[in-house]
Amino acid sequence: MWGRGWREQCWDRLQQPWDLIVIGGGITGAGILREAARVGLHVLLVEAGDFASGTSSRSSKLVHGGLRYLKNAQFRLTLDSVRERERLLHEGRGLITPLAFLMPGFESDRIPGWVFGIGLTLYDVLALQWGHRHYDPAGLRELCPPLSGDGLLGGYRYFDAQTDDARLVLRLIREGVHDGGMALNYCRVDGLLRSRSGQVRGVILHDQATQGAGLTAEIQAPVVVNATGAWADDLRGQVGGRPRLRKLRGSHLVFPTTRFPLQRAVSLLHPSDARPVFAFPWEGVTIVGTTDVDHAHSLSEEPAISPAEADYLLDLVRWAFPSLHLSLDDAMATYAGVRPVIDTGKADPSKESREYVLWDESGLLTITGGKLTTFRRMAQSALRAVRRRLPGSPTFDPRLRVLDEPPEERCVPSDLPPAACSRLIGRYGADAPGLVACAQAGELEPIGSSSSLWAEVRWASRQEAIVHLDDLLLRRVRIGLTLAQGGAPWMDRIRAIAQPELGWDDARWESELSHYCTRWQDVYAWPR
Ligand code: FAD
Repeated sequence: MWGRGWREQCWDRLQQPWDLIVIGGGITGAGILREAARVGLHVLLVEAGDFASGTSSRSSKLVHGGLRYLKNAQFRLTLDSVRERERLLHEGRGLITPLAFLMPGFESDRIPGWVFGIGLTLYDVLALQWGHRHYDPAGLRELCPPLSGDGLLGGYRYFDAQTDDARLVLRLIREGVHDGGMALNYCRVDGLLRSRSGQVRGVILHDQATQGAGLTAEIQAPVVVNATGAWADDLRGQVGGRPRLRKLRGSHLVFPTTRFPLQRAVSLLHPSDARPVFAFPWEGVTIVGTTDVDHAHSLSEEPAISPAEADYLLDLVRWAFPSLHLSLDDAMATYAGVRPVIDTGKADPSKESREYVLWDESGLLTITGGKLTTFRRMAQSALRAVRRRLPGSPTFDPRLRVLDEPPEERCVPSDLPPAACSRLIGRYGADAPGLVACAQAGELEPIGSSSSLWAEVRWASRQEAIVHLDDLLLRRVRIGLTLAQGGAPWMDRIRAIAQPELGWDDARWESELSHYCTRWQDVYAWPR
């Protein structure tokens, strides 16, 4: 679908009539593309950087009801999220997987344990299932041996789910393209086209991938959706919208499981401010996060954890898991993302609502805020808001599948263990058989301690719209986060597979590698 030469073909086909242009290739834009293509609309999605390179590859990767939103009385958000979680677990097997959480209570907690008992009961009621259970301190430590015994009062186990956020975006985009949509990464909207009456009627595109001159194009459509997340105010400003977003950074530390082994996620209240922070296993590593601080930097720079955030997270880890004696030297990587939330001026950033919003300004429909988990609801609301401007005023049926029916496991011929097979089907959907078929000898083996297979590097390089090495290592195959030094010790074999598939000469490879290593040190290494 996205083999060599696909960009040129896309640019050649841009001047066709479009029903809808979606700006932004994160989960929000991807969800809209998917739902619009499903009903036969001619939809074009454009993304300034790589698909999912914004917030949608930098989340905590939880598909969750958001237990903490109950604390802020956001019942509607929790209910919607819990229902979406259940649906995604059902339809996205291998990509959205159940995750057990432990919620320990300590003598020093400012909130008594019974409050969580009530919250979890409500959480289960909303999901129409009974999943939580109370454990005494010994039972809890049996489930999580490194957990501190000091002042441990016992706690709860409950269930949520997790995903690979960037792969979820990719799967939605691939399925939307398969249904007739078009999606172009490294293609920025530089301006909006307006009719005489001032209504937005199209976009000015600028190719960010072309070496040298850089292509531009003016593309028209009756509906233009601004799904640019934390960047949404920039385009709104072009139609006179006043800034309304508060940009909040959330950061994570990534540890190797050899130093921080966890079988289950642990939800903790930070001893300094009682904010909930998670430690959870993901793709062969343990992640700790997140923070919630105002992001004062320009969005043109990639967000990175600050030393203060790293200390905040480490303080929690040392307090809750003292026997592990973890230090920042143990962290193999970090990452940070910026949440778009509606600015109501609350002193505590965590008190700002996580609900999504829709604004129609001079025909530019902006949808922002919300969560990864609720992308389908957001997509359908956005499309319903503009349906009268779309040909045939289509309806969007909430009962239809979110993700396409994946191939059955027997269609993926290999000796892979069932869990690895399910993981591939979940991440690659209909492409999973092709991925396995392209594997050369030894490529169905995992890369180092990660869950990723060498064959994924080959497939992504050949078929997944890679423009830069970062796209491959940070978002298609997540080894930039899950292997030591961003995967540097494995780079010779990565190169042997990827360089010929990408068609890059030695000079291009060297320049991409040097850029990747510099960026990784600046943004993904821990702040020394
Ligand atoms: P983005 O993913 O940021 O996508 C917007 C895209 O628009 C960007 O890729 C950007 O490059 C592009 N763009 C900007 N300007 C232009 C332009 N002019 N032309 C073309 N493209 C443009 N939610 C959950 O459900 N579960 C979680 O566990 C969770 N954890 C989170 C943890 C953190 C630290 C953060 C910050 C958020 C978390 N969220 C979580 C929320 C969730 O990640 C976000 O709500 C979601 O990813 C936002 O997606 P988006 O598509 O709206 O924005």
